[in-house]
Amino acid sequence: MEITKSGKVHYLEPELFASKDISVQGFTTRHEGVSRPPYNSLNLGPSTLDSPHNVEGNRSILARAFGSRLEKLVTVTQVHGSDLLLLDEPNPDFSHFQKLECDGIITNQPGVMIGVCVADCVPILLLDPVRRVAAALHAGWKGTAAGIARKGVEAIVTLFDGRPRDILAAIGPSIAPCCYEVDEPVVEAFRAGGQIIESFTTPAGPGKWRLDLVEANRRQLLRAGIGEENLEASHLCVSCEKDLFFSYRRDGGDTGRQMGFIMLKR
Ligand SMILES: [Zn+2]
Repeated sequence: MEITKSGKVHYLEPELFASKDISVQGFTTRHEGVSRPPYNSLNLGPSTLDSPHNVEGNRSILARAFGSRLEKLVTVTQVHGSDLLLLDEPNPDFSHFQKLECDGIITNQPGVMIGVCVADCVPILLLDPVRRVAAALHAGWKGTAAGIARKGVEAIVTLFDGRPRDILAAIGPSIAPCCYEVDEPVVEAFRAGGQIIESFTTPAGPGKWRLDLVEANRRQLLRAGIGEENLEASHLCVSCEKDLFFSYRRDGGDTGRQMGFIMLKR
């Protein structure tokens, strides 16, 4: 995944998705935008203490960079769960969904940009080029333990008659194990969900582990039937890469949000 640019927006683009040429998508960096420190500068998250006007301006910059409009950029109120919003009807204005509490969006509507806001958590994009369906998922440790990546794949299969082998997946930049130490309750949540924690954690002292959320989600997607050749992941650490990304942990909670976004072309 390389950093590329569209309009003013610098973003990481998953090559597999781009090669299909039926959608635009990526993972934004903090570059450009109008927000001031500590939200400088492309803060796309409404649930921050940044000026709502700045956030709206930034979201408009993102939408316009890909030929869309602010009112066609759909995000939701993320609550670290695993519920998904389904958008399968044309609608002139999607802004009312912003208050809906869920952690993923799935759509077959061309021209609608869907996104998840993150600052440490993992943004995941799915694309079924056969059924022409896209999804954006927010996977922090709770959402990952609750299986939101698997649920995203299952939703495409059950709602749109998709086949897992057709689906592409891209895992965006998040907080990497170098900067992500967790304790017993976190690890226990994964065990309770039947996940083999040894495959994505390393012990870091008594009652402490380093958690690799990218690997946890990669394994979850493979188990859901995604082909290894259809999956790409960024291993950039948002906490280490201060110049590129916001990080909630690194910045003590007072920071902006980058976005994983995808829009089916008309
Ligand atoms: Zn790091």
